[in-house]
Amino acid sequence: MLTQQQMENFAELAVRVGANLQEGQEVVIRCDVQCADFAHLIAQKAYQFGAKLVHMQWRDEVLGRINMIGASKETLSTVPEYQAAFNKYCIEHKVCLVSISAGNPNIMKGCDPDKMQASNLANMQANKDFRAATMSNYLRWTIVSIPTLAWAQQVFPKEQPQAAVDKMWDAIGHIMRLDTPNPTEAWRKHIDTLHRRARFLNEHNFEYIHLKNAHGTDLTVGLATDHVWLAAEEMGQDGIPFTANMPTEEIFTAPHNRKINGTVVNALPLVNNGNVIDDFKITFCNGRVTDYTAKVGYEALKNILTTDDGVLSLGEIALIGKHSPIAESEILFFNTLFDENASCHLAFGASYPTTVKGGNDMSEKQLAQHGMNQSLQHVDFMVGTKDIDIDGIGYDGSVVPLFRNGEWVI
Ligand code: ZN
Ligand code: ZN
Repeated sequence: MLTQQQMENFAELAVRVGANLQEGQEVVIRCDVQCADFAHLIAQKAYQFGAKLVHMQWRDEVLGRINMIGASKETLSTVPEYQAAFNKYCIEHKVCLVSISAGNPNIMKGCDPDKMQASNLANMQANKDFRAATMSNYLRWTIVSIPTLAWAQQVFPKEQPQAAVDKMWDAIGHIMRLDTPNPTEAWRKHIDTLHRRARFLNEHNFEYIHLKNAHGTDLTVGLATDHVWLAAEEMGQDGIPFTANMPTEEIFTAPHNRKINGTVVNALPLVNNGNVIDDFKITFCNGRVTDYTAKVGYEALKNILTTDDGVLSLGEIALIGKHSPIAESEILFFNTLFDENASCHLAFGASYPTTVKGGNDMSEKQLAQHGMNQSLQHVDFMVGTKDIDIDGIGYDGSVVPLFRNGEWVI
């Protein structure tokens, strides 16, 4: 368990290093009702650092499941108008957003995949503008995570319920560097290391990244024209830096959606909307998925890959060494925030406009010309094994080793 002081340090990290709340700004906290105590602590911290008003956008995963079972597909295919009104308010008032990502990874187990797809699609469409505002850094935002009972039990199935929760707090405390005397300072140092590597990658301006391991991955990922590698702290459109994911270990950019070739095998299970997908293999030709298999969760994978046309290409490539605290914990969290930071990953679907130079000012057509992928989806999946070798390949054909045996060599 964390001490009260550590909890407060955690809340402060979310508000200051994460969303980087500015004096007089409104804050939206998005969290499941199970995380109310921590959300209230964040709200108090927000006022301590100058918030004008804190809004709570409660989620309730249990009601989500009840609705998924009880409501018709037709009803689930529409989203109430108040959602759009709230999104509009957030954008107009330039709120900063703190999301607490915590929940039972299997909450939707056994639900009708058709209904789930209809509901997800409706939600993605209804929240398109809001998502654009966060993905383009128009709004500053952050995601943090704390244990919930059902989730902790899934992560530590052999433990008694309370012991599982305690164990998870310990793991998250270490990963979040809350066991250091000054977590904010520890985060600054960590962010500097990530930025140094991102600078190296940007200076080399590679044309391709080549990933290869004994698992069956042999994939060449072309990078978007004028791509930018980003890490940890990003710049809000208002010129104020923020850290979108906490924890974060990744350095990421946009693939070129017509220059991806080869085969990739997942390294960790993919948990998507309460479904677990594992042992899957994807083949790409000229930037598009041409074949896929999955031993676990094939239908769920198929649901993702039939959302729209853009989902059949990649919107992100992210590099993470095997010695990151998350990777070293060897815990499978069944939660993207952690698992994607445990391993190099790719994402089906949309790219971040911020990962190409001047991307926020480009039209959809201009972005497409740079090879930037567009989709309603953005689904990360983990590909970085302990033995993965990664090279950067320059426009002149030169090869620069970036990873050997799963770890950075730069
Ligand atoms: Zn990522
Ligand atoms: Zn991603």
